[in-house]
Amino acid sequence: MTTGFEHETLGQRVRFTRDGAAEGVAAEVSHLGAERVMVIASGAGEALAARVTADIPVVLVHDDVVMHVPVEVADRAREAAESSGADALVCLGGGSTTGLAKAVALTTGLPIVAVPTTYAGSEATNVWGLTEDAVKTTGVDARVLPRAIVYDASLTTSLPVDLSVASGLNALAHCVDSMWAPRSDPIDRALAEEGIRALGGALPRVVDAPGDLAGRERMLYGAYLAAVAFSSAGSGLHHKICHVLGGRYGLPHAQTHAVVLPHVLALNAPRSPEAEARISRALGSDSALAGLQELRDRIDAPTSLRDFGLREEQLADAASAVLPAVPPSNPVTLSTDDLERLLRRAWEGADPR
Ligand code: NAD
Repeated sequence: MTTGFEHETLGQRVRFTRDGAAEGVAAEVSHLGAERVMVIASGAGEALAARVTADIPVVLVHDDVVMHVPVEVADRAREAAESSGADALVCLGGGSTTGLAKAVALTTGLPIVAVPTTYAGSEATNVWGLTEDAVKTTGVDARVLPRAIVYDASLTTSLPVDLSVASGLNALAHCVDSMWAPRSDPIDRALAEEGIRALGGALPRVVDAPGDLAGRERMLYGAYLAAVAFSSAGSGLHHKICHVLGGRYGLPHAQTHAVVLPHVLALNAPRSPEAEARISRALGSDSALAGLQELRDRIDAPTSLRDFGLREEQLADAASAVLPAVPPSNPVTLSTDDLERLLRRAWEGADPR
């Protein structure tokens, strides 16, 4: 336990409900005093949005959502918000949808009510991201933190099992990286440990029974804890690597996190006794890496970056791009060669054990 630290807890309302999303959203919109709501939803979210927003004053439904929020997509959404005269945003979907609502909030100051349908966790952070010319820029701004979150597991049963696995491991990665990220503190690590416990227990349940609401609820609980820990602790080595892979080569977000995580854990855990103890305890295993790999085998997790479009000749370029971003807090000091070796193992799908 560190004897001196500073921790910031972000202020937002959080609701967990089962089949009560419409009532929850209506209560949160009314709490904001909003009378003209812009709804942002796409894909599976559009059908769910009609159900969830039935009791609120909607002026516009915006469905032009693209992963990693390209600037032109953000500009179109901002223009739509302004011309509709919206006074609040309700977003329903995964991290891409929440990310677009955040882009609108960043320039308009409109308050957001977020209804998440994946485990990405963007709803609980004050971090925004925008992509221009293949470079993703992120920033922190209080305006983008949703004022309220409405979690309803019944909205997540349609998330396919492979995406649920990848997204759940994305949440687990928030927890693991929070153990050694630049602003990691004892509160973050306690939240992260409980997040790992929840996600590690619930992921096999979701794989075995995707419609089991109790398992899906436990996933949302874990994903929320993960995001709160990550938001406070900041991006560690794992997120720096995935940020480069996503922004520079367009790799899919959740799957990239799922593949890279065991390789970062294999590198850092032996040099971080507290992380090793917390992660192994949360996963009920003798070692953090063994626990993660047993879980990954059980849920048939993705293993290779080459399956998601990374080319072998891009490995050296990726390692050079990651190196300047490696946080000084990382338990292991790394060279470009070390990073390239890590990336090659993740690219090949090598067993990190
Ligand atoms: P996503 O939002 O792109 O969703 C992935 C796919 O799942 C999409 O095709 C979507 O339509 C579909 N989907 C979502 N919910 C569904 C459901 N209930 N049923 C069926 N299909 C469903 O992906 P994601 O992994 O949730 O989010 C990734 C994005 O979020 C990235 O851009 C990432 O950078 C960002 N992110 C930001 C933060 C932050 O703090 N700012 C945190 C985490 C992720």
